[in-house]
Amino acid sequence: MIVGVDLDSTVYPFIQNYMEFIRAEELFDVPEGYVPDRWSFYEDLGMTFQDFTASLERGASEGKIFKGDGFNDMPYAGFSHVVRNLRSEGHHIHIITHRNVKHAVGLTMEWLDSYGISFGTHFDAIHFVQDKTLVNVDILIDDSQANYYAATKLGQCCAIYTQPWNAHVNSEFRVNDWADVDQLVRSLSV
Ligand SMILES: [Mg+2]
Repeated sequence: MIVGVDLDSTVYPFIQNYMEFIRAEELFDVPEGYVPDRWSFYEDLGMTFQDFTASLERGASEGKIFKGDGFNDMPYAGFSHVVRNLRSEGHHIHIITHRNVKHAVGLTMEWLDSYGISFGTHFDAIHFVQDKTLVNVDILIDDSQANYYAATKLGQCCAIYTQPWNAHVNSEFRVNDWADVDQLVRSLSV
């Protein structure tokens, strides 16, 4: 199978990294214990979309977003092991991310390398693209309801990676961690 894998909040702890960054830089107030339950969480923090984008660009230009640089940037448990094993058994892994701010490509590659996640061992390709349906995969693993609906509308298979902001999505496939992804890919391959 060709497995498409989103990065942010499917593999990469984007929210944690981002919150640590805006706290450290004192850009906006983040209430103690705040946990986002929607993708436009920045509105909860009094930010506009433009503020959010500007903060991402600043974080990326400082090398602190998309790669922790001291902040939390640990890939979700099991990811590296699961994709390596799936590849060794003949599956293909395409990383598909919408990271589109300047420096995102370099930071992403540095981050993958920093955790020993390598081209040819853990993944076959990496795509930087907004419309993930443009990449031909057998199943996409993603936390975004927008990507889920876009894929399924075209008859493409998508498994929602559980996060607080997608709990309401009534998807045929749902995964809660990378052990679930491993099991799902195997069950769909027999
Ligand atoms: Mg995501």
